[in-house]
Amino acid sequence: MLEMVKFPVRPARQLGESLAGFIARHYAANGHTTPAAVHAALAIVYQSGDNPMRATAWQTVCTITGDAREEDRRRWIERPFDGANARFYRKAWLRSSYSTLKICPECVGAHGLHLALWEFPLIEVCILHKSVLVEYCVCGSRLTWRKLLAGWKCRCKLPLADLVAAKASIAQIAMASDVLRSEGIPLPESHRNLHFANGTTRPKDLATHYEDVAMVLGLRALIVQTNAPRAMPVRPPARAMGSLMASWPGRFEPVLARLLRFKLRRKAGLLVALQLDDSVIKLLMHLRAASYNNLLSDAARSCLTQLVASIDTRMYADARVVFNPSLEIATREQQLARLASWWCGSIAPMVEPSHSALTTAAVQTQVALRPEDQTVYPTIAKILNLLVEAAHAGLPAERLRRFAMAWPPMDDVRHLEPSELLVHLAAQLQAATPAHVGFLAELVEQSLQRVPK
Ligand SMILES: [Zn+2]
Ligand SMILES: [Zn+2]
Repeated sequence: MLEMVKFPVRPARQLGESLAGFIARHYAANGHTTPAAVHAALAIVYQSGDNPMRATAWQTVCTITGDAREEDRRRWIERPFDGANARFYRKAWLRSSYSTLKICPECVGAHGLHLALWEFPLIEVCILHKSVLVEYCVCGSRLTWRKLLAGWKCRCKLPLADLVAAKASIAQIAMASDVLRSEGIPLPESHRNLHFANGTTRPKDLATHYEDVAMVLGLRALIVQTNAPRAMPVRPPARAMGSLMASWPGRFEPVLARLLRFKLRRKAGLLVALQLDDSVIKLLMHLRAASYNNLLSDAARSCLTQLVASIDTRMYADARVVFNPSLEIATREQQLARLASWWCGSIAPMVEPSHSALTTAAVQTQVALRPEDQTVYPTIAKILNLLVEAAHAGLPAERLRRFAMAWPPMDDVRHLEPSELLVHLAAQLQAATPAHVGFLAELVEQSLQRVPK
């Protein structure tokens, strides 16, 4: 294979020009088509995933161009963001490939270059012309490096500069500017005067930025699943993510809180019981895991920590009973405080004292040994919600005498914080047999005259 320096015409690599674009331009300028072996080497270099042939292919590319560029080596050999977000699903948008290409017809028309920045994940638009990068010719064929004709023409001979690009959406433009604000994206001269100054919290480091996006993308999928389990449109990441990323991280927390409220809007009580496969549980787990993910940007993690605190994912009874996210925190705190003072004043004096000095922790240890029973959790949540209601109504202790006497023996709980008391009550219910829990539910319902005696 002939090295490029031995060709009569030797175009110089332009600032911000892509590797594939430069090589294509070189062969075209000499009236040749790119040799199949060069295509094959580039395909391996561009391809995502661990390819054992990558080092050899890179050598071939370096020999042909006679010029090993550090920016290419970093992008295609080091691949700094390929491994990002492996723990989160839907990472197809991070993959790269040589088989197809995207162009801005206006840019190609103006300077005849294929730009490296068009090859970065989440760049779907030309930021200069505010148009969507074109992937198909009007003849219907997809643009590919192998079928491209000299002078930037489609296989049908139509110049790519004549293609018409659609107008980019605000979301796509926002997404592209976020990516372009990161370090290490080679910009051509034409882009030098652009400023990407919307917001200041995006990470400069591209790998971190992609990790943030992957996390939000995972969240979005769970939110969609949570709110509409069936219909789930598959859309390109930038369009799907635009509005969420636009509110990320600052305004993201209320957006998510609102979505959770929508999902659980029919549940009125303080606590909600969740099934293990419930999408809300998955969502809460995703949030928690993400708040510990140190590959994310600091801004992302601090926002997540706030988010977790604001929707208060404190969990009871093996994480199966959670605070109803549709309630404001202040409302919850009020309800808890009222429950605690009512319980200690009215109910606790009637409950049989425990002589085993069982602590909450000890009760929970007992519970861990019990076989799984799905049906008990909604009943536990129901009892605790009814108690909150009884406390709110200031129900006279006398009305709950039978209930109190049936309650499992317990220690003096007056020293506990309201939230600790709730943990204790939930743990006690969880340690009781399902039949006993059912009985307690009946008694409290009767006291509140929910069912005829
Ligand atoms: Zn353009
Ligand atoms: Zn065509």
